[in-house]
Amino acid sequence: MKWSETYIPTLRDDPAEAEIVSHKLLVRAGYIRKLAAGVYNYLPLMQRVLTKISNIVREEMNASGALEILMPVLHPAELWQQSGRWQAIGKELMRAKDRHERNLVLGGTHEEVVTNLIKGEVRSYRQLPLNLYQIQNKFRDEIRPRFGLMRGREFIMKDAYTFDRNEESFKISYQKMVDAYSKAFTRCGLETKIVESDTGAMGGKAAHEFMVIVDTEGGENIIFYCDKCEYAANLDKAVSMEPDPAKDDDEPKSLQKVATPDAKTVEEVTAFLNVPAKKLVKTLLYKADGEVVAAMIRGDRQINEIKLKNFLKCVDLEMADAPTVEKITGAAVGFAGPVGLKNVKMIADEEVPRMKNFVTGANQDDYHFINVNVGRDLKIDHVTDIRNAQAGERCPRCEKGVLHTTTGIEVGNTFMLGTKYSESLGANFIDEDGKEKPFIMGSYGIGITRTAQAAVEKFHDEAGIIWPASIAPLGVEILPVNVNDDKQREVAFQIYQKMKEKKVEVLIDDRNERAGVKFNDADLIGLPLRINVGGKSLKDDKVEIVIRRTKEVILTRPEEALERCTGLLAHL
Ligand code: ATP
Ligand code: MG
Repeated sequence: MKWSETYIPTLRDDPAEAEIVSHKLLVRAGYIRKLAAGVYNYLPLMQRVLTKISNIVREEMNASGALEILMPVLHPAELWQQSGRWQAIGKELMRAKDRHERNLVLGGTHEEVVTNLIKGEVRSYRQLPLNLYQIQNKFRDEIRPRFGLMRGREFIMKDAYTFDRNEESFKISYQKMVDAYSKAFTRCGLETKIVESDTGAMGGKAAHEFMVIVDTEGGENIIFYCDKCEYAANLDKAVSMEPDPAKDDDEPKSLQKVATPDAKTVEEVTAFLNVPAKKLVKTLLYKADGEVVAAMIRGDRQINEIKLKNFLKCVDLEMADAPTVEKITGAAVGFAGPVGLKNVKMIADEEVPRMKNFVTGANQDDYHFINVNVGRDLKIDHVTDIRNAQAGERCPRCEKGVLHTTTGIEVGNTFMLGTKYSESLGANFIDEDGKEKPFIMGSYGIGITRTAQAAVEKFHDEAGIIWPASIAPLGVEILPVNVNDDKQREVAFQIYQKMKEKKVEVLIDDRNERAGVKFNDADLIGLPLRINVGGKSLKDDKVEIVIRRTKEVILTRPEEALERCTGLLAHL
């Protein structure tokens, strides 16, 4: 590939639209261009990266026994109504209408379509297990499309679906996918951490996410992991134990209402009353599908709305607005409390019932209660884990290790769906015992476009991208320093021709540009190896091979450049 004949529109400056480093680099290095919020063009270099990642994923899927198909993007709404997700997903579902005013969905995932596909056709247990997958553009009307390809509204995903006759067989199918995923990401040069995750709108029993650990801003997910055992979970799933659960054995003291003028926040109230935040219970009012509920949590804790939403099994959860709070509590926002609160479902975090003599709002402007005790002063309807875990707490699995946090990018996801879709869509098979049973299903996604950008977020330096060789758009860039120099041109093109004959993927920067511009562009686009042809080394009949990742320079004779490069590429 000749630079002069391809299309690599590099930019000197960071694009204003980009916040995180990988997004900036992909735009600057001429890999992607935005069409609309969360919708991108993939330019020639990007298309090559995406093809490489897709092929690695495809090979590992095929090796696991999965079968590639291609399903439609356009779905009739009826299927989504049958599964319940037409309502449950809400605005993220990309909807359209045809000329007959019939509702359509632009697929963001294909559980409904694939279940409908095999329904009535796969009839016998003898046809199971079955794993069908595709690589395709997906549509999701994300509330906040951002960070370039990380969270798009149109993006490329590999999605797979397994069908099994029983739990035992399903476990094997699921494990095969987990193994295939680990292999595929490793081959892409990305080590992943597998973490337990929330099942969200996908439904089902359990789920795992594959995370690329990064310490940059692109690491959107907070991950908790134990330093003694294998436990790892994301923020919405992680549970924790207090490092040293202090037993609150205090005798209940008598309830008192105290004036707390102008003190509303936890900080203000605890400072005013001179108690630690651990001694206060926050009462937060939410609207869950329109119904007001109160969530109680210790003052120094953060509520996790996903946990609360999952517990309530609601579609929409939002903080109650000020007029609602005032109507329910009879006081301004900031003074809500559980004592005397009526007609509201009360949900408390697990820590709350263990607390004694705590502080709460008094449902009256400028007043709080002290010495509140569960049972005597208030009744809780449900106790459950609704708080964020915190680093430093104890591991809930081994109970010995300490939880630590790190940040990561979710590049893949596996879900145990159970029979949610087979039952709602009526997809059954006849088992060995002659009985009709719903398929046990799993679904598995890999974000192809997100994986590409995750690699950039992980591997770059101040000068540009550093692709792992396996997913680099090309392996080698040949850079004749001055294309007007006959000798340089000749040597550079000789190496180029030889590499092309030997199927080494090579780019030659044949532009009549200043050397500085070409060197900068080479670093920016980030091919694993560069061959500088020119200057003093060429006088000694040598060329320089520069390893992008380490900046190491290897002097070699032009005739040996090909062999040296193929040797090096195998290890990059
Ligand atoms: P997230 O929590 O990041 O929204 P998700 O749980 O919605 O992801 P899945 O539905 O499991 O994701 O999709 C499978 C994979 O597709 C994800 O692991 C991710 O790599 C990718 N993906 C999901 N949403 C997007 C998006 N909006 N843009 C790009 N890639 C995405
Ligand atoms: Mg999502």
